[in-house]
Amino acid sequence: AELDTLDILVLGVILLGTFAYLTKGTLWAKQKDPYANAAYLNGNAARAGKTRNFVEKMEESGKNCIIFYGSQTGTAEDYASRLAKEGKSRFGLETMVADLEEYDFDAMDTLPSDKIAFFVMATYGEGEPTDNAVEFYEFINGDDVAFSQGGEDAPLDNFHYVAFGLGNNTYEHYNSMVRDVDRLLTKYGAHRIGNAGEGDDGAGTMEEDFLAWKEPMWAALAAHMGLEEREAVYEPVFGITVREGLTPQSPEVYLGEPNKMHLEGAQKGPFNAHNPYIAPIAESYELFKVKDRNCIHLEIDISGSTLSYTTGDHIAIWPTNAGDEVDRFLRVTGLTDKREQVISVKALEPTAKVPFPTPTTYDAIVRYHLEIGAPVSRQFVSTLAAFAPNEEIKTEMTKLGSDKDYFHEKTGSQLFNIARLLEHVGNGETWDKIPFSAFIEGLTKLQPRYYSISSSSHVQPKKISVTAVVESSMVVGRQDPFRGVATNYLLALKQKQNGDPEPSPFGLTYELHGPRNKYDGIHVPVHVRHSNFKLPSDPAKPIIMIGPGTGVAPFRGFIQERAQQAREGINVGRTILFFGCRKSTEDFMYESEFEEYKKALGDKFELVTAFSRESSKKVYVQHRLKERSAEISDLLSQKAFFYVCGDAANMAREVNTVLAQIIAEGRGVSESKAEEIVKNMRAANQYQEDVW
Ligand code: FAD
Repeated sequence: AELDTLDILVLGVILLGTFAYLTKGTLWAKQKDPYANAAYLNGNAARAGKTRNFVEKMEESGKNCIIFYGSQTGTAEDYASRLAKEGKSRFGLETMVADLEEYDFDAMDTLPSDKIAFFVMATYGEGEPTDNAVEFYEFINGDDVAFSQGGEDAPLDNFHYVAFGLGNNTYEHYNSMVRDVDRLLTKYGAHRIGNAGEGDDGAGTMEEDFLAWKEPMWAALAAHMGLEEREAVYEPVFGITVREGLTPQSPEVYLGEPNKMHLEGAQKGPFNAHNPYIAPIAESYELFKVKDRNCIHLEIDISGSTLSYTTGDHIAIWPTNAGDEVDRFLRVTGLTDKREQVISVKALEPTAKVPFPTPTTYDAIVRYHLEIGAPVSRQFVSTLAAFAPNEEIKTEMTKLGSDKDYFHEKTGSQLFNIARLLEHVGNGETWDKIPFSAFIEGLTKLQPRYYSISSSSHVQPKKISVTAVVESSMVVGRQDPFRGVATNYLLALKQKQNGDPEPSPFGLTYELHGPRNKYDGIHVPVHVRHSNFKLPSDPAKPIIMIGPGTGVAPFRGFIQERAQQAREGINVGRTILFFGCRKSTEDFMYESEFEEYKKALGDKFELVTAFSRESSKKVYVQHRLKERSAEISDLLSQKAFFYVCGDAANMAREVNTVLAQIIAEGRGVSESKAEEIVKNMRAANQYQEDVW
């Protein structure tokens, strides 16, 4: 038989492998770091060649429990890791965590009945799957689902699963992802173990919902699989090796670079959630006229990249942790003296992934890769108790970890981040017995933050505007307010660009020059996420926009686009914006710009304002909307598009209610009928939300 290309390739690989074995790798030892994490070597190469059949993967790696996650902001992924860890340490399950995106699901029906699959599913936006769960969801929710072994009534009869959802009850489609997945799996004959848990971010009870769900779930699973609970002993997932021969100056050491291409100094697309573009900030300025609150406008230049966007998309900003919080973390964990020490981090078991590239330094990991600012979870407190500096502190940590009420009484309202909690409980002691692996396992990866792009791609295709209000929230029981990670970093960048050589907003310091000064000259790492929040394709269609506060962001883009179209002589439909803020003299952003758009759009454009603190009675956008009932109703009958952007918790829901009232009145139908009409508008994309 002839050798085809594949045969030759395979042969070649075998030969190479043999050669490598014989030479013991000495020939390429220089290029390839034996400790380096393959996933970061070059983009997607690590993905190639891996099986996408999870049953096979479990078989190969000797696993009997796979924990899938559908995660957007990292919480579901974090819960998945925690379940994996707990399943192993308490019940001896051979667990692996799996990104839904990395597997196919047609062979689900071949999972043996003595194995178990977990689904930890976040619901995103309007009941949508998270980006990494889209394919899985489309498969399982498809009209013609075909499993590998085909056609029985209950193709998944052997399939046993556990389910937990992460949702937010202020959204209409609360936890729809876990509900749908549970329903569909059941429909195909699969068997759920325990309840399908639901965590509620809207009520702020996500963590406690998760903890409350998992105990009975473990009991049910243990009964089902015949597992014996054992004394949980901490086993690190990652091994840390000190690299004596390397210094932070060694070219192969990652100092915060997100991947190998960045380390080698080449920025190459595609730019996405694994590979940001280090973009120049062309311009930045303050939008508020008050001292105590900030809202930043940024112009991000993407002309040097392959990035593109369309009006209504989102941009992700990759933040850097504040220097003070990095210092605090290193100090309380006893790592200050070792911060520049070069280490390699290696997964001790084949299915775990190191969430950042190595070799690197403790400083770089803490500054660029771990979410050290987020409130610490009670379960993590419990894990760390074993490594307390002394018995007394250990007792306190154990109590905090196991007693919900005590935890909330002692720390809850102060929302300590990890380092602040350790400082608080540790009474000045250093926590140097905690294996560093525990932090990599227990803390979320530092997440990019999304912003609704506030410019029009029609007007400025290579420059992306961002409108970001700087997060600063008072915390009960704490002296200093909590300062948001990304927005204070952006504030520091803005200050530097506008002439402050050593910016330190609210005393926070940042390494604005980035790893190896790669962000110098005011750069920020970004990528673009495409959204479904879009203008009607026909510019003559009327649009109604509800965008109080930073909810105005995408609408600035919409109006910028329509003003430009009007200047070009295109027939533009009626364009109404409902904008709200506290006071016209304080936080009325883009006021003068809207006047410019008005000149171009004339009567087509109307800005309706609601200032909540200018009269004794608070006036919000939904009140203004109600006042305009007749006109809104009329526009809707002309098929106007209706958009809402901003606060998901209250505003979006109230606007929805008011809209139903307007429709009920305008068309003489009952409120429940009107609500149904609003639902249909949503389904038809005539009603679009971009809320957070
Ligand atoms: P984080 O550090 O992420 O904190 C966020 C919040 O979590 C804080 O306000 C606080 O309430 C709480 N928190 C976290 N840790 C603690 C702690 N230890 N103690 C107490 N509280 C804590 N924002 C805009 O300004 N403009 C936009 O156009 C915009 N568009 C968005 C579009 C989308 C699709 C999404 C999902 C979000 C959008 N956001 C927008 C919100 C934005 O992504 C960020 O969430 C926001 O800027 C805060 O980020 P941060 O890193 O500064 O704050």
